[in-house]
Amino acid sequence: MVSTSEQAGRAASDVVVVGAGPTGLFAAYYAGFRGLSVTVVDSLPELGGQVTAMYPEKQILDVAGFPSIKGRDLVSGLVEQAATAKPNYLLGRTATTLAAEESGITLGLEDGSSVRGSALLITAGIGTFTPRHLPAGEGWVGRGLDFFVPSFAPYADKDVVVVGGGDSALDWAIHLEPLARSVTLVHRRAQFRAHQHSVDRLRATSARIITDAEVTELRGDRWLVEVDVAHDGVTETLPAQQVVAALGFIADLGPIQHWGLVTEKRHLVVDERMATNLPRVFAAGDVTDHPGKVKLIAVGFGEAATAVNNLAPVIHPGAHVFPGHSSEGS
Ligand SMILES: Cc1cc2nc3c(=O)[nH]c(=O)nc-3n(C[C@H](O)[C@H](O)[C@H](O)COP(=O)(O)OP(=O)(O)OC[C@H]3O[C@@H](n4cnc5c(N)ncnc54)[C@H](O)[C@@H]3O)c2cc1C
Repeated sequence: MVSTSEQAGRAASDVVVVGAGPTGLFAAYYAGFRGLSVTVVDSLPELGGQVTAMYPEKQILDVAGFPSIKGRDLVSGLVEQAATAKPNYLLGRTATTLAAEESGITLGLEDGSSVRGSALLITAGIGTFTPRHLPAGEGWVGRGLDFFVPSFAPYADKDVVVVGGGDSALDWAIHLEPLARSVTLVHRRAQFRAHQHSVDRLRATSARIITDAEVTELRGDRWLVEVDVAHDGVTETLPAQQVVAALGFIADLGPIQHWGLVTEKRHLVVDERMATNLPRVFAAGDVTDHPGKVKLIAVGFGEAATAVNNLAPVIHPGAHVFPGHSSEGS
């Protein structure tokens, strides 16, 4: 599914999408529905944007047609729907430069490759997310230290230390507790930022909670074996084959701010077609601003459909904005 970096150097698509969150994934489906080839670039290694990074296990209650759907299930449905467009996914790569001309666009990626397209759709949400680092975790990423928990299976029968006091830390601790050998939550304050009912749920499990505490050292050989936790004036050593540092993410619109786009309070200004001020460049989802804007998944879906249907005639002059009904071909 994910293209190699060699492919990126010569990739060309009708539509290039920056951002594989809910908006970008639905836009990819819509590009396919319009008969357009599509490349989707994301700086994260996983599809799903904020939903995958921050709340894959939470129930979402306001996506039309789903009275309640878990974040990860929504993303898998979007990925399955987008697959009909056969998207070329370039993951783990940040889009750094843009040249937008009347004839087409060229997007430069941080690995030095570039992607050409007839149009660009920016669905970059709140920007690139960089996990907040665990100071003691230097050198342990990929050897037992994670910032995301995209799937639970690798934690089965492990001693897991989750660091943090927000919703993600609490959610991951709650969900890992039934399958891990042990779960310890380490938080540097006495108060949690997470919902109280998550704190209560975790307290009702076998997980140990250590507050006013800090992970000061990770030790092991090729893989993590144990961690030191400083609390109550002592340093305690805990067995740990996995540490999850759930300390939040730093979101930054980053390079997009330097592409010559009109912005308003770090959002891209678009017209009613979702077009930006640059030729062949559209935007949709959380990254946009316009009067009455509401930042929700449902709104991003509508904006994705509006953007793709309005960029179709830019790519193929004479094409209609209205796509016809998808049900007609079923
Ligand atoms: C804890 C939490 C709970 C939420 N609950 C709900 C809810 O119940 N209902 C609801 O409707 N909304 C909810 N939201 C908001 C919802 O998640 C967002 O509205 C939605 O994710 C926006 O989708 P998007 O695709 O526009 O952007 P995002 O999901 O932010 O995706 C944007 C993607 O673009 C990528 N990107 C950015 N810049 C670049 C670049 N230069 N190069 C490459 N890639 C780049 C990012 O890595 C990211 O993957 C919640 C948000 C949070 C944090």
